[in-house]
Formats: sequence, C-alpha cells, structure tokens
Amino acid sequence: MSQFSHAYIFNDLQIGWLDYPDPISHSINVYISGCDNNCSHCSNPDLQFYSFGEKFSSDNLFRLIRNFSKIEQTNRVCLLGGDPLANKNIAFTRELLFLLKENDFHVCLYTGHSYCTVRRIKIAGFKFIKTGRFVKELECKSEKTSDYIQFASTNQRLYNENLELLSHKGRYYFK
Ligand code: SF4
Repeated sequence: MSQFSHAYIFNDLQIGWLDYPDPISHSINVYISGCDNNCSHCSNPDLQFYSFGEKFSSDNLFRLIRNFSKIEQTNRVCLLGGDPLANKNIAFTRELLFLLKENDFHVCLYTGHSYCTVRRIKIAGFKFIKTGRFVKELECKSEKTSDYIQFASTNQRLYNENLELLSHKGRYYFK
C-alpha cells in the first residue's frame, strides 16, 4: 500500500495566466476537491465534495505535474479548490508541496482558511498563499492585469512564503 496520502482532483491539469501572482507567469492549475468553508454563493459547489473527480496519491499527482510542466515549460503551479487545506486534504497537500519545492516548483496555494489556521497547521513550501473565504458582501471583480491581481472579495489576502502580507483589500500590486 502506498505511504502517500490521496485526494481527488477535478478535471485535467490546466494551464492559465490568471491565477499566479506575477505579471508574466503561466501556471499549471490543480483543483483539489473538498472544502469545509461553506461560503454562501460558492462559485464551485461541486468542488466542496471530497470525492469529486479522479483520485490521486500525492506522488502520482506530482509526477503528472512534472510531466505537464515539461510540455508547458513552466515551473509555476497554483493549487486551488475546493480547498487544498480542507481538513481531509491537509496531509495530501503537505506532501505535494514538499515534492514540488524539492523539485524547484513555485507554488501559489489558494485556501479559504485564515492566516491563523495557516500558522496553526504549519503548512509550508509555497511561494505565495491566498487566504480567506469568499464573502458576497465584499465581492469585487476578480481579475489580473499587468500591474496587479485582484481576488474575488476584499477580505482575501495574499502572503509570501514567510507569511508577510503583500495585499491590501484583496489586491496585490506586482513589484
Ligand atoms: S472556499 Fe471556495 S470552494 Fe470552498 S465554499 Fe468557499 S468559494 Fe466554495
């Protein structure tokens, strides 16, 4: 039996420009199913279910990402959901982050959990982490331009790998 944790991944890996917080990088986007946050007006309700999609071990998913990265020629990865830090996904995400960092991938992790939770569970290995649930009353247009990235609600925050705050009101201006 594999020593690695498992999670369900929605759809195939996708390549996109909108989610990695710098002005130039395309990233491999991975949607990890399962979420405990229960945001009202969730934009991905199917992804709240832990068993939505295809089951992977963390090492198998890492190999898939590595192969895809050679085709797409990028070492940027966004882990989205669902929530990669949903209770049942934490061990899986911790292993995946370890493998990605060891192999020089730069990861932006998207979670609905708070900065306090991120500190408490001691998750590491990312370059960026976006925290905070989607709050309908604080909704704004989610977008990325050559100057900034704006998240879906203004309470959401972006931190760097040292958990230093980078954003203000859900927006991060690229350096
Ligand atoms: S964190 Fe994302 S997937 Fe989870 S309930 Fe909120 S909007 Fe939906």
